Amino acid sequence: MKTSLNVNPTIVVIFGGTGDLNLRKLAPALYNLYADGYMPEKYAIIGTARRPLTDEKFRENLMDGVNQFSRSGKVKQEKWNKFAENVIYNSVDVETPESFGLLKKSIEKLQKEFGPKTQVIYYLAVAPNLFPLIAKCLSDYGLAGNEDNCRIVIEKPFGRDLETAKELNCILTGIFTEKQIYRIDHYLGKETVQNIMAFRFANSFLEPLWNRTYIDHIQISVTEQLGVGDRGGYYESAGALRDMIQNHLLQLLCLIGMETPINFDADEIRNKKVDVLKAMRPFSPEDIRFSTVRGQYTKGWVEGKEVPGYRHETGVDPNSNTETFAAIKFFVDNWRWQGIPFYVRTGKRLFQTSSLITIQFKDVPHHIFPSGVTEHWQQNRLIISIQPEMSIRLQVQGKRPGLDMVLNPVDMVFDYKGTYSSDTPEAYETLLLDVMTGDQTQFMRADQVEAAWELLMPVINAWESKKSLSFPNYTADSWGPEDAEALIARDGFHWFALPLNKE
Ligand code: NAP
Repeated sequence: MKTSLNVNPTIVVIFGGTGDLNLRKLAPALYNLYADGYMPEKYAIIGTARRPLTDEKFRENLMDGVNQFSRSGKVKQEKWNKFAENVIYNSVDVETPESFGLLKKSIEKLQKEFGPKTQVIYYLAVAPNLFPLIAKCLSDYGLAGNEDNCRIVIEKPFGRDLETAKELNCILTGIFTEKQIYRIDHYLGKETVQNIMAFRFANSFLEPLWNRTYIDHIQISVTEQLGVGDRGGYYESAGALRDMIQNHLLQLLCLIGMETPINFDADEIRNKKVDVLKAMRPFSPEDIRFSTVRGQYTKGWVEGKEVPGYRHETGVDPNSNTETFAAIKFFVDNWRWQGIPFYVRTGKRLFQTSSLITIQFKDVPHHIFPSGVTEHWQQNRLIISIQPEMSIRLQVQGKRPGLDMVLNPVDMVFDYKGTYSSDTPEAYETLLLDVMTGDQTQFMRADQVEAAWELLMPVINAWESKKSLSFPNYTADSWGPEDAEALIARDGFHWFALPLNKE
C-alpha cells in the first residue's frame, strides 16, 4: 500500500452532498483515494444539503453510492468503517444564510482538532445558480480563508454564455484569489487525456511532424449512445455546444494544438492552452453557415429497444430547438496550424459511445507502388482513443504476408489495459487529489473559460436566434445528420470511427 501524501490536514466540504454527483463520483473517488493511501493523515468530509439527515444515514447513503459506482467494486467493510469515521453531515440550506452558522461551527471544531495548517476545500456540487450565493455566504461567515488554507471547486457548467461566465468570475475573484479557484472539467482528469501531454512532450519523434507540413487534418469526436434520459430539463437550456464543445472538446483541442510549454508549471501549461483559444479563427456569419452543423435526434431503435426522440424525452419542449448534436470545423490561425482544419463533433443517441482524437498525416509525396498494390491505401493516422478503449494507435501501411506485393493499413497499438496491469484511477480521484495538493494544471483558469465562450458565442447566438427548420434531423443509433458527413466530405475527408463493440 502506498503511504499517505504529505498533505496538510484537510476538510472537504461538499455542497450537494446528497446529490447524484457526490453519490456517483465524489464519494467513490474519496473512498478510493483513502483505500489507496492517498488521503491526508488527518481529514474530514462534511456533506451538506437541505434535507435533514443523521451522520449515520448520510454515511449509509454514501456507502450505497460507492458500492454501486466505484471502479473498485464494493467497499471492504473494515476499511469503509475507518474511512466513514471522518464523514459527517450538516443540514445547510444555502438560501437561508443563517444555516452557515452550523457549518462554521463544524469547520472551526475540526480546525482546532487538526491544527493551524488545516486546509478547507469547498466543493460546489449544486445547481450553478447557487454558486454565487455560496461564495458570498462563505465570505460573510469568514470562511473564505486565503491562498494557503482554502480552495473552492466549481463544477461545470461555468456560466451559460460569455456574459454569465464573466459575472461568475467577477463574483468569485472578488472573494477568492485565482489560486484558490478550481474550475473543474472532469475530462481533463482522465488518464488517456493526461497522457496526451506525456505523449506529445516526452517523445522526440513527434514534434517535427506535429504541424501543418505533415498533418492533413484533425478530428475530435466524442459520441454518446445514450439520450438525455432524465436530464432533459437541464439539457434543454444547454445543448451540445454548451454541454460538450465549450468545455471538454475545446480542452482536447487545446491539448493537441498547444505549443510546447517550457516546464510543467500549472500557469505555463494554461498559458499555452489559452494561446490556442486566442489563435482560433472567429466565426463569421458565412462560417456559421458552412462550417457548423446542428442536429437533434428522433426516435429509433437501440439494441432492439425503441427509444424516444429528443422532443419526447421528459422535461423537453415538444418544439425544442435545442441541439443534441453539433459538428464544427475550426481553424487555429498560427504558424503551426495555419490552414489545417480541426473537425469536432459530439452528440447524443449516436451509433457508438466513444471519444477519439484522430490526427491524419499527409499522403506520401510520390506513390512508387503500382495501383493494384495499393488498393487499400490509407494515409497514416494517429488515433488517440480516450474511451471506451484506452489506447494510442499509429496506422501505417504494411505488406500483407504472401508472395504478392499487396499493401494494407495495419495498427501499431499501445493499449493501456494490456500494458499496465494496475487499475486506472477515475478522473475525479486525480482531480480531487490535485485540489488537495494545490495543483491547478488540470483546472481551467478564468481567461481560458472566457476565451472558449467568446469563440462560441457567435454560433450559440446564431443557433438560438434562428430556429432549425430541419429538427429532428437524425435517427437514434445513427452517426448524426447527413450535413455533418457533408461538412467533412466537402474537404475530401470522412469521419473516422474505431470498429468497436457497442457498449
Ligand atoms: P442533483 O442530484 O440535483 O443534486 C443537487 C444537490 O444540491 C442535492 O444534494 C440537493 O440536496 C442540493 N441542494 C439543492 N438546493 C439546495 C439548497 N438551497 N441548499 C443546499 N443544498 C441544496 O445534482 P447533481 O447531478 O449532483 O449536479 C450537481 C452539480 O454538478 C451541477 O452543477 C451539475 O451541473 C454538476 N455536474 C454533475 C454531474 C453528474 O454526473 N451528476 C457531472 C458534471 C457536472 P437537497 O435537495 O437535500 O437540498
